[in-house]
Order: sequence, then structure tokens, then C-alpha cells
Amino acid sequence: MRDATKCLHSGYVPGNADPRVVPIVQSTTYVYDSTTDIGDVFDDPMKSLIYSRFGNPTVMAVENKIADLEGGAGALCTSSGQAAILLAVLNICCSGDSIVSSTKIYGGTSNLFSHTLRQQGIECIFIDPDATPDAIQAAIRPNTKLLFGETIANPALAVLDIERFAQVAHANHLPLVVDNTFATPILCKPFDYGADVIVHSTSKYMDGHAVQVGGVIVDSGKFDWSQRPFTGLTTPDPSYHGITYVDKYGPAAFIVKARMQLMRDFGAYPAAHSAFLLNLGLETLALRMERYCENALAVANYLKGHPLVEAVLYPGLADDPYYPLASKYLKGASGVISFVIKGGKKNAVTFMNSLRLASNEVHVADIRTCVLHPASATHRQLNEKQLAEAGVLPGMIRLSVGLEDVEDILEDIDQAFSAVI
Ligand SMILES: *Cc1c(COP(=O)(O)O)cnc(C)c1O
Repeated sequence: MRDATKCLHSGYVPGNADPRVVPIVQSTTYVYDSTTDIGDVFDDPMKSLIYSRFGNPTVMAVENKIADLEGGAGALCTSSGQAAILLAVLNICCSGDSIVSSTKIYGGTSNLFSHTLRQQGIECIFIDPDATPDAIQAAIRPNTKLLFGETIANPALAVLDIERFAQVAHANHLPLVVDNTFATPILCKPFDYGADVIVHSTSKYMDGHAVQVGGVIVDSGKFDWSQRPFTGLTTPDPSYHGITYVDKYGPAAFIVKARMQLMRDFGAYPAAHSAFLLNLGLETLALRMERYCENALAVANYLKGHPLVEAVLYPGLADDPYYPLASKYLKGASGVISFVIKGGKKNAVTFMNSLRLASNEVHVADIRTCVLHPASATHRQLNEKQLAEAGVLPGMIRLSVGLEDVEDILEDIDQAFSAVI
């Protein structure tokens, strides 16, 4: 099946006289014939369902659809994108370990890596996404457990050279974890370029309609975990009768451990109803991504020609520094544009307050056009140096182009510029 077909049909195949649409299984638990049967699933929780803290048929249908779209061996949905990133890291990192991350990442991930994980004893070494292989190598230490970057960075819109990061990671027997939120599997398949684990905030394009907060971890199933010790993955797990995930679950070890151990213990699983809503969004993902790319390119071109605009960041523009990487890795540059208005924060605020169609909201990738001022919202916690490193300027506006008629979007932007002059 091709992507548009997978969006509609993967993950759920109804049997004779079953519901056409994936049903909402609104049940915390599952019934067994005997205590022996229940005992068996505690020996191997991958056998069948136990409890909806770490497995539910509605959610699993969506997990299978996303795994199929990404070309992965398995997926685990989480209650938010942040939970997906946290669990992906904790699945192979313990106190005393370190990770290497691109500086150009989502503000929430930056907080998690710079502060919260550090408090738990996991250190993050930040590097520029444009770093040379030698510079990436120099950031890797004996205790490093993974490399991390975003396919299209939010909001800096840098495109990650996935192959470059994967080559350095693999030379050190380390996995590359890629946040593919902005590209979605429709525009980029990071596993094809060497990524080993993909995370998403499904709250964004995958859902698309701004109705559920969620995340997902996808495992390529191809990484060879045996070349380096990863505590808990290549060593026996005392909380499951001393099984070793790599031995027992082979290529699916990473994602099985994330579900059986971390989800069991942390409990950040989405509700069945949320997964149902997410699935509705996924059904039209391929179709929507095409239009987001088309509308955003038209808006980016318009902004480039406007006298009040100092800079436009959109990797779909031929003169954007990331255009070569976008051409290599992406089928389209997605729907988010960051642009810098002349006159700094003051004019950014006037422009944003004057928009009528586009709404001010703390969201991105909505079906409706929306704007956000990263320096005073998502990246508010960063100091000036960190803001510069994250590529966030005071006059920068993040514009998430929606699926309205592009002429209406352009007219709205035009009248908001008039308010600034
Ligand atoms: C929004 C976002 C996240 C966090 O996801 P939530 O679902 O809001 O927790 C992570 N990464 C990227 C790139 C995002 O845009």
C-alpha cells in the first residue's frame, strides 16, 4: 500500500460483520477464563491485553498504522509528545548517562534536556545541527547513549542531515532518535536514512484538528543493541523475572521494553477516545500534508516580497540555506514558516494582534492558520544565548499555515501588515 492508502487502511482490518470504523474500546481491563490464563500474560505481557495503562485495542490500531506509515517494527502511543520523548530517552538512559542533541529543537524538549533530565542525572550535550561529523563525534562520550534531532526543527526550521547524524551515531554503536513531528511520515521517512527511533507529537499534523494531545515512539527494529551495553535493554530486567529484552524480543526489544516496563511503571498511555480522534486525523494526513505544503509555499513567497519582512525561514524556498537538505529528505517543506518582522518584538506584537483570520494560539500544525511568538511563549525560559542557539529572534513569528483558501490567508496577512506601517 502507498501512504494515502495506509492512512485509511493500516492498523485495523475488520473481520466479517465487524464495525467499519476502528471501535472505541472504553475498558480499563480485559477478562480471562482462569487465573492460569492471567498468570500466563504476566509471564509475557506481549501475549495479550492486561490493562489499559499499557495496551488498548483502539490505541494499538493507531500504533500499528503509524508504525506502518514510518516503516517501523512497532510503535507505542503516549499521552503527549513530551511523554514520547521522555520515554524514548529513559528507555536506554539511566542516571550517569549522557545524550547528544541538536540545539535547534522544540522549546519543551529543550527544557526537558537542559534541566529536568539533568536533575535526574542525565546530561545533554548540545551541538549545532549543521555540525561537521568531527564536531558531532567530539560531543560523544563513553557514557553517551543516543543522538537526537528534529527532521524540521520547531521553530528554527533547520532541516537535519539525518544521514550525517546516523553515520556518526552508528560508528559509535549508538542509535539516532529523530523527532519527525513537523515532517510526518508523509513528507519524510527518517528510517530510510538511518534513524533508529522516531518520536512524534501526534498533537500536531497527525491529529491536525487540534482535538487531542498525544505522542508516539516508533522503533525501526533494525538497530543492533548488542554492540554496547544499554542498561535494562541488554541486561536482565528483575521486574520481569530477569528476562533480557534483546534476547527475548530481538528486533522489537526497544519498543517492547518501552511498553512492558516504562509504560507499566510511568503510565503515560493515551485514552482510547483520544486514539480514536487521532485516527480520524491520520485518515486524511496524506491529503492534508500536500495542501499544507502548497499553501505555505505560496505564503512564504509572499512574505519574501514584503518590505516589512527582514527574513523568511522556510526550507521550501529555493534560496533558504536548508533547501538542499529539504530537497534530499523531504517531499515538501510542511506548513510552518518562521519569519522575522522589521522592528523587532514591538512590530511582531502589533502584526499578530491585527490578524483577523489567523488566531493567536499556543499550537502549531492546526488545520486553521495560527501564529505564535516563540520568544515570549514556547521559548520563554531560554536566556539570550540559548535563544540565539535555538534560532529564535525577538522579531520572529511562527506562522502555521492552515488549510483555508490561500487567498484568504494572504489577505489577512496583508491587512495585518498595514496595521504595522
Ligand atoms: C509540540 C511538539 C512536541 C511536544 O509535543 P506535545 O504533544 O505538545 O507534548 C515535541 N516536539 C515537537 C517538534 C513539537 O512540535
